[in-house]
Order: sequence, then C-alpha cells, then structure tokens
Amino acid sequence: MPDPSSSPTYETILNELAASLTGPIPLDDLMQYVLARKPSSAKNPRQAVREKLRQTYRSPFIFLDPKTLLPIHLAMQGARFRMPLGRSGAERGQIEISRFDSYLPLHFNREAVQLVDAKGNPIAMSLRSISQKIDTLLGMYEETALFADLSAWLRPQKVTRHDDLLVTVLDWQNGVFQLEIEPHKKRNPTLIQARDRLLADLLYAILEEAYDERIWVHNALPVAYARLPDKAGCPPHHWQIVLQKDGRFRFDDHQIKYADGRLSPIEYIFLEQTGQPLPRRLQPVTKAQEKLVYRFKAALKHNPRIWRQVEILGGQTLADLNAILVDAFNHEFDHMGGFWKLVPRQGARTRYREVELGSVDPLGEGDGADVRIAAIGLKEGEQLKYVFDFGDWIEHTLTLEAIYPAEEGVSYPRKVARNKPRYFDCVTCRENGKKTIALWSCITCSSEQARDLYYCDDCIARGHEDHYVVEIIY
Ligand SMILES: [Zn+2]
Ligand SMILES: [Zn+2]
Repeated sequence: MPDPSSSPTYETILNELAASLTGPIPLDDLMQYVLARKPSSAKNPRQAVREKLRQTYRSPFIFLDPKTLLPIHLAMQGARFRMPLGRSGAERGQIEISRFDSYLPLHFNREAVQLVDAKGNPIAMSLRSISQKIDTLLGMYEETALFADLSAWLRPQKVTRHDDLLVTVLDWQNGVFQLEIEPHKKRNPTLIQARDRLLADLLYAILEEAYDERIWVHNALPVAYARLPDKAGCPPHHWQIVLQKDGRFRFDDHQIKYADGRLSPIEYIFLEQTGQPLPRRLQPVTKAQEKLVYRFKAALKHNPRIWRQVEILGGQTLADLNAILVDAFNHEFDHMGGFWKLVPRQGARTRYREVELGSVDPLGEGDGADVRIAAIGLKEGEQLKYVFDFGDWIEHTLTLEAIYPAEEGVSYPRKVARNKPRYFDCVTCRENGKKTIALWSCITCSSEQARDLYYCDDCIARGHEDHYVVEIIY
C-alpha cells in the first residue's frame, strides 16, 4: 500500500505530466500514466481518472477531441491576437492589460505579466488600476481594469490611433507576451476579416459541442487556438472584439453563450440595468415575405400519426398560428400555447437547442402574440415546438414544409389537410346499442377498470363529474 501522506494529488500528477509533454497525448496513455503514479481502488479506475480530469479545478489539459488531450500551455503557445490602439493607446500610451487575462492561466497575477518587443527585449511599463463601481439591482460591485503605460516604447514608433497592437503569447505559464505595432497602412483587412471569421467559427463549433449551451473562455480559447490553422499567421482580433462583431454570441469575461439563448434572471436584470439590448431572436420582415404562405405540418410529439397541415402568411403572427392550431386539433380554448424554435446543433450528436419565441394566451395576447411568422427566420424543413396547455403539456412538432406565394381570394390562416382519424366509440352509448364518436377519455374509470374507456360529450357529463378526463385528439 502506498503511504497516503506521500501520495501525490491528481492535480500534481497532471501538472507534472503536462509540463513534460511536447504535443498531444491519447486519453488512454494519460490514464495509464496517472494510474501508474496513483493506483486507484475504484471499481472502474479508468472511469475514476476520467472524472478527475473533468472535475479537477484548473486542469492543465484540454480535450482536442474525446480521445486526445493537449496541455493548455502548448495550445496557447504562440497564440496571437490584435487590439486597436485607439485614442488612449496612441495618445497616452495606455494599454488595457487586464484584457490579456483570458490568454493567461486562470487567476494569473496581472502584475507579473512581462512584455517583450519583437527582438525579445523587455518593454518598460508602469501599471495603473482604474476601478469602476457598477450599480446593479443586486448591489454594487467593483470592476478593476489594469492599464499598462507603454508610452516610452510607443512614442518613438509614432503610432496613430488607427494602428493595431499585435500580441503573441510567448510563455503562457509565466505570462510573457511579445508586442508589435502593425501600422494601419500595412494592414490587410480582407485577411483579418477571414481570420476573425475563422476564430468565431471555431468558438461556435465548440459551443455547439457543449452539453449545456455554454462554454468557459479559459477552456474554449485554448481549444480554438489549438485548432486554428496557421497559428503564427495573421492574428485575429481579441476574441471579445471578434464575438462582438459576429452577432451569434453573448459573453462576459468568463463564459460564452448563444446570443438567442435563454437568459437567466440575473442576466436579464444585468442587461436591463446596464442598458444593453435584450437578445434578438427575430428578423426583419420584408413586404414580399408578408405575402408568402408558410405551410406547416403539425404532429403530436408522442403520437406523430396525428397531424394537421395548416397554411399561414408570413405577415401573420403566432397568435394567428395558435388560433388555427387550436381549431385544427379541436383543443379546448381556455389554455396557453407556447412556441419554441428548434435549432439543430452541429457536431457528433444530433440534438436541438430550443429558442423561446413566446406564448399566446386564450385572448390572443401574450409575449409571443405579435411575433410574425416570417420574423422567426425558418427555412423549409426547419421545426418549431408548440405546447398547448402548460398543465397537460400537449406537445406538437411543427415542420415548415414549404413556402410559396399566396393564392388570390383565399383567407389565411387555413386548415389544409389532416390524418385520417380512427375514431373510438363511446362505451356507454355502445352498451345502450348506439354508436357515437367518443371525445373524452376518463383516466379515473380507465385505471379503475384497467382498460381504456372513452365517452361522448353527453355521457362524460353524467357520472364522471369528479373524474380526471382528457380530450381525445384524433
Ligand atoms: Zn355516449
Ligand atoms: Zn369516469
């Protein structure tokens, strides 16, 4: 038995392994190494190591793919980004060094950052913190930005506010960056745009792989740089500038999410408080789109053989769509309907992400009521989730089958087709020798008698007053 007091922690073992590597390592090899250093008594030792690898705070590795890891310091080695000098850089020589945080180990001491020039000579700088108090509904908090005064280095270079500062990570662990100035006349805007797009696409792909619709910057950025072709080539902008311009993301210093994703209550308050726009889920609608017909096939999620086809105009709303679906499925009127856009996620697993569009109440009001169909931006084949009655949760999948010009003289929305119904007979009427279509299922009676019992409108009104009854959808 190894002496537990002398046994190294997983963190120590992983750090030592990471430091000794010069390239990627297969997950199998890593597990063998860890188990050799620290034998596990777990029933499934490999599973135990895998868990540790995911949980270990500040793991020195990233997953390049599910079976390959790379030490973060190698992923970040040589990573490059650009920041516009701007007025404060060009006129006062001030660079916001706290924006380098995400290109450093987590909680790296900003004061220990070292800057060198293209020849590797140290760049003299003095640091200055600027605190800003931010007032939110949740209380005051203080944000500190750290600026480096580089005027002694910048002044002889005769920089202008249109020039870019190019930053290269020389030593991620020790916080060493190389700085260069790129005069705006030497800049290749087309190439920079392509590099920005590439970095944005890499981060988007990583977000699409994430199981909970968000990624952590300290983990995702090294993965993106590890996958970036020609890492030493033209630097893309600082990732925050890239994502800001891109529009598909919402982010803060630590995490990245989908721009149209769900907001937590705290995020909602923060956006309102700081006057930032709420996520935009809708697209502008043109006059031509307003007059196009959108044909949907709406099927019950748990019984897709039951479906309705409806047509609605692009200029009409979710309130109109809700109304025609309630009519087509013969749903009761007095419940809410809710809509979500189902956005397919890329990557190995086929899954959807649900983007909330809003709900419509029985009076045709609600936060989704005014959302116009064309504004949802659906393409043919794409889907919506529609839930009627948040109590009984009757879930439908709506597939946009086709978009085409409206017909003259037709009033939309309208029902087009439906499944061929297979009706059940009312059991009470049948006992009395009559044949009537059943509209209700009595759950109480069915479970008491251990068989499915269906009733017509008249019969359900007699003898089932306190029973749990649900509508049958044909
Ligand atoms: Zn009956
Ligand atoms: Zn009953």
